[in-house]
Amino acid sequence: MNGNRLDEDDMGKTRTALVTGGAGFLGSHVCARLLSEGCKVVCLDNLQTGRLKNIEPLLTNPLMSFVKADVRDPLPDGVYDEIWNLACPASPPQYQIDPVGTMLINVIGMKNVLDLGVACGARVFQASTSEIYGDPQVHPQTESYRGAVNTIGPRACYDEGKRAAETLCFDYHRQYGVEIKVVRIFNTYGPNMDPQDGRVVSNFIVRALEGAPLEVYGGGSQTRSFCYVDDLIEGFFRLMRSDASITGPVNIGDPGEFTVRELADIILEMTGSRSVIIDRPLPADDPLLRRPDISLAGKLLGWAPKVRLREGLKRSIPYFATETGCAVKTNLD
Ligand code: NAD
Ligand code: UDP
Repeated sequence: MNGNRLDEDDMGKTRTALVTGGAGFLGSHVCARLLSEGCKVVCLDNLQTGRLKNIEPLLTNPLMSFVKADVRDPLPDGVYDEIWNLACPASPPQYQIDPVGTMLINVIGMKNVLDLGVACGARVFQASTSEIYGDPQVHPQTESYRGAVNTIGPRACYDEGKRAAETLCFDYHRQYGVEIKVVRIFNTYGPNMDPQDGRVVSNFIVRALEGAPLEVYGGGSQTRSFCYVDDLIEGFFRLMRSDASITGPVNIGDPGEFTVRELADIILEMTGSRSVIIDRPLPADDPLLRRPDISLAGKLLGWAPKVRLREGLKRSIPYFATETGCAVKTNLD
């Protein structure tokens, strides 16, 4: 076996992948891409924030199967070539519903995934996050920046959980030789997001389509950098298929930086909505700036995003319109 993984190994055997969180927004795109490459895919999900409808079209493929299970419980036995660990609610209101549970998904779940990786010699992909940089004092954020997370705040269950998960990945790599691929994901949007999960892109599009007020928290001068899902998934696969010596962490995100207020204005314009914008307080510890430095992804993986924000929104708005049964008032072409 060489360092570059393909859907078939050197003996021509079909490769098998376990995708935790595979019924979620990003996980469902990972499952679809793996199937398109001819891999056998086991999707493991407890459906806490994921939806079976995201993977229903994939389940008609005989190479795809679904197991309803929690990553905090001992994982079902199996022999996998690769394990993609995406199980964890990603939206702040969702991961704060059960903060203790969120921390344990990231620690116990990660340990269970890595133990399985040791047992079957699988390569392990970890969906880490820009949240490990907290409210950053370095801008844009490079992988070498160690972050500024409030360890006792309401976001810490997620941020510190993800930081501990990265630590476990690197300790299993050094101690047991597990092949790891750690990606730090910056805010990503697109089809298969749950319209109700509370993240800013989905909230704004749904509200705009419904003619309901868009709630901008904290005046909206805080920034985020929004990546279209197809670009992110391409980055995932370039990393996962890269030489074993490339462990990450690698930032994958779109460096185009927008204030939350700018995002609201763009979405109102693109949907032709007459919704008003209303101010709401900034949630505790909400990072004021976020933008990835993606030079490392460019250098190691030859990766850069291709779909700019307006193009990505143009592709996403019809999805949210279908999900919510709303009409789009303007022609997006
Ligand atoms: P999502 O909430 O749509 O998907 C998460 C999936 O994990 C869901 O299907 C959910 O049911 C499942 N899950 C949650 N807890 C579980 C448990 N205990 N056992 C089994 N399954 C469980 O979120 P997403 O946007 O698809 O995010 C996927 C991963 O990427 C997460 O790990 C998230 O932290 C990471 N990430 C996403 C973004 C983003 O912008 N989308 C940014 C940074 C990191
Ligand atoms: N936000 C907002 N209105 C909303 C949802 C979110 O103003 O309806 C803000 C939120 O305070 C944050 C940014 O948009 O500053 C991104 O929020 P999201 O929950 O999508 O992601 P994260 O904070 O994890 O980056």
